Amino acid sequence: MAHATGEAYLKPGVLPHMWCPGCGIGTMMGAMLRAFEDLGFSNTDTVVVTGIGCTGKLDDYLLTNALHTTHGRALAHATGIKAFQPRLNVVVVMGDGDSVTIGGNHFIHAARRNIDLTAIVLNNLNFGMTGGQASGTTPDSSLTSTTAYGNPERAFDICALAQAAGANYVARTTPNHGWEMQELISQGLQHRGFSLIEVVSPCPPHYGRRNEMRETSAMLHWIRDRAVPVERFEALTAAQRHDSFPVGVLTRRDEPDFNARYDLVRARAGYRQEDVAT
Ligand code: SF4
Repeated sequence: MAHATGEAYLKPGVLPHMWCPGCGIGTMMGAMLRAFEDLGFSNTDTVVVTGIGCTGKLDDYLLTNALHTTHGRALAHATGIKAFQPRLNVVVVMGDGDSVTIGGNHFIHAARRNIDLTAIVLNNLNFGMTGGQASGTTPDSSLTSTTAYGNPERAFDICALAQAAGANYVARTTPNHGWEMQELISQGLQHRGFSLIEVVSPCPPHYGRRNEMRETSAMLHWIRDRAVPVERFEALTAAQRHDSFPVGVLTRRDEPDFNARYDLVRARAGYRQEDVAT
């Protein structure tokens, strides 16, 4: 059987893409498009929603429906699409700036609503496009263009945030785990409710360069060495966990999603089926 390539979702002639050597966004886009192909997603029934930043350029390359939104607001727009057109596959691709820094409140509430979206967050630990400023996921003590003597803040754990707020499916991976990434995205796309897949990713020209990882490969290796399969992570001591993060499926549950609850409310309000968007 031929392996999926995802090429059918790419605009002809758009490659090479604009992302830096060593960046994980291209790897993530490839995994996402192969997952689309394996699941038989059509361009017309799929909407990819993006915000601002390096990750936000992704929709430029796609033939699917796409919506390029304002910074931090991708999830708000995607929520509107899914609430009104529940039959669509709605996929939101964001960076750590869009998802949990500028857009942190939308992230919490999308997970709380458990709306049936798949959010893929490329966490490169800083604002890459605008020059490597600290974001809500920059590790403490790290050097960035706005924390030249070390970041005094603690970092958000994006997966823990989604878990606590009520997401049905939460997973984490890295560009070192390309096939697993495709599988986790595929699972998230099929799981009803809010699905989050975090991809911890290198940003060699900014985060890497300022934190003694000048070689393109150095940050990939730094991430690889910190990624611990979730089954093994549970057995680590608190000190060992400080420099590690779990990868794999962290949460899988089947709480009713927003659209199921919304259908009940509409029925109570006497909404006729023919009035409901399909
Ligand atoms: S600046 Fe960083 S996040 Fe942006 S494309 Fe380059 S490596 Fe990727």
